[in-house]
Amino acid sequence: MTNLLGVHALVWSGSWDEPAARHAISSAAAAGFDLIEVPILDPYSIDTAMTRRLLDEYGMQGACSMGLPAHADVSSEDPAVVAAGKELLARAVEVTAGIGATYLCGVLYSQLAKYPRPISERSRANVVDAVGFLADQARQASVEVSLEVVNRYETNVANTAAQMLDLLDESGTDVGVHLDTYHMNIEEDGFVKPVQQCGDRLGYVHIGESHRGYLGTGTIDFDGFFGALVESGYEGPVTFESFSSAVVHPELSNQLAVWRNLWSDGDDLARHARSFIAERLKSS
Ligand code: MN
Repeated sequence: MTNLLGVHALVWSGSWDEPAARHAISSAAAAGFDLIEVPILDPYSIDTAMTRRLLDEYGMQGACSMGLPAHADVSSEDPAVVAAGKELLARAVEVTAGIGATYLCGVLYSQLAKYPRPISERSRANVVDAVGFLADQARQASVEVSLEVVNRYETNVANTAAQMLDLLDESGTDVGVHLDTYHMNIEEDGFVKPVQQCGDRLGYVHIGESHRGYLGTGTIDFDGFFGALVESGYEGPVTFESFSSAVVHPELSNQLAVWRNLWSDGDDLARHARSFIAERLKSS
């Protein structure tokens, strides 16, 4: 098993000032993880020097994830909004490199929102163009970008691995696919084929239960998913993502419709998740 095992910062902290960042990073390290994923919804608010220092102090790797706000949505038809989105993406790459991280992932092509209609041709063309721009920025900064496939209530751009692969083909870039078991459970017809379809273009993985709580207490076919992951030779990060109203991010929690408590003890949740994931990567 060569995969970095990661955990989303929201298991411990909804903000990112120094005490919050220290709490999340030290707790992730204590739970045995190699990597912590920091949501950078406002990448201008991230203190990169502080984050890098704390990651070094605890011997942790970082990753950044983001979704776009309405005023910087590159899937907009408005050129000014798309331009603002590209600026935000450039900053996200800068922040990722600035904290010493390799991976930038998430919904870097859309708002995390329920769109009122299918995506238009012009919007899709704007996304393809923005992905090309993002890939250029990332290459120059030695950052690896993967685009997360999310369910229909959170984007209208791409809801399945196959759709995302089509989009990435059109962009002509080496940007990867970021799969998340929570979203796959809603949109895919199983947990094996999407992994096979991605093959070596799979760049990042989120492990989430069907209700985004404790792993193994929902309906996700983790045996199928991890079997396919190991079979495919995937060597990238495997990051546990979970949300509860016990830890709230002022924007992200609402965008993801986190309305109830699935857990209250992040330490216990994370230790359980780490052994759940490590066991399945070993035994698959
Ligand atoms: Mn996810």
